[in-house]
Amino acid sequence: MPSPICKFCTSKSLRVSKFRMGDMSHLLLFQFPVRCRSCRQRTYLSFHVALRLPHRSKHSTPVKSVS
Ligand SMILES: [Zn+2]
Repeated sequence: MPSPICKFCTSKSLRVSKFRMGDMSHLLLFQFPVRCRSCRQRTYLSFHVALRLPHRSKHSTPVKSVS
């Protein structure tokens, strides 16, 4: 399956966006909000495509174990 691209700038740097109440109508159509890391535009992709994208990396730094 090809990587999803941004329809605004054709970048492949997409990630899952924060879900809002306004997204509910899209959810009923099996679409999930995603955001482009390049142009910051928000768009929708079908569930199975969007859920393969990286999520917000809040805990990206590895936890150092104190020994
Ligand atoms: Zn874009």
